[in-house]
Amino acid sequence: MLITPHALTGAVIATLVPNITFAVPLAISSHFILDMVPHWQETLYPYKPNKLTWIRIPLDLTLSIGLVWWISQAHPNVSSVIWLTAFAANIPDLDSFVSFSPTLLQNKIIKSYWDWHNSIQKETSSLLGLVSQLLWSWVCLYISFSS
Ligand SMILES: [Zn+2]
Repeated sequence: MLITPHALTGAVIATLVPNITFAVPLAISSHFILDMVPHWQETLYPYKPNKLTWIRIPLDLTLSIGLVWWISQAHPNVSSVIWLTAFAANIPDLDSFVSFSPTLLQNKIIKSYWDWHNSIQKETSSLLGLVSQLLWSWVCLYISFSS
């Protein structure tokens, strides 16, 4: 799943559960649940970066930072928790560096995690897979500005 839905999920968790002891593990856990929802990716397993990847990442990152900033402005008392959980919700995808440095897969722990993380993905190259991500992002924004 893209950066933005994960970041918004982390942010909304912080608005509902502003205690980092609970919010950070919830944000990390939310990542794996969202990965199981059918979603569009510009590159599918084994995730060779393509031209679209280099366009999507900066746009996705900028959008996620802008929207998390917007949520944090609405919740100034917990803004640091919002930023932390928005980041935490994306931590599980740090294994994407394997695409740039495949030798990392020689480490058995990284390889086991990479294989498991890939096995739970419900990805599609169909742009219909953007609908789930847009809808979920909208739900997160709605909850963030309602709570
Ligand atoms: Zn993931």
